[in-house]
Amino acid sequence: MDVERGRELPCINCGYDLRGLTAQHQCPECGLSVAQSFQGGAVTSGFAIASMVLGIVSFVVGVLGIVTAPLALHFARRAKQDIMAGRASPGSKGFATAGMVLAWVWLGVLLVVLGIVALAILIS
Ligand SMILES: [Zn+2]
Repeated sequence: MDVERGRELPCINCGYDLRGLTAQHQCPECGLSVAQSFQGGAVTSGFAIASMVLGIVSFVVGVLGIVTAPLALHFARRAKQDIMAGRASPGSKGFATAGMVLAWVWLGVLLVVLGIVALAILIS
């Protein structure tokens, strides 16, 4: 697939002008696969979505979040690897970040609750 001449084709990640490059190339600026800019970044990372969903689920299932929160962190890391490698669209990053933040917040809440319980036990 060759780039049409004369038409602007910015990198979907950094906006670099990709004219003259082919789908087999990578963006000279950010290293993203040129094929992805051609496709308009259609490939959303499944890991990123899974991460965000698990992050939300962690708050719904209460203590079972001890399972889903670490999974959300794991999937967020996989999603970011895919984005870096150009296998998933940079737009997926928002989902992965949301999943990661939710998971850390949940783990933070867990630590606070455990701290309060431990304190209550010590005091009584
Ligand atoms: Zn780029």
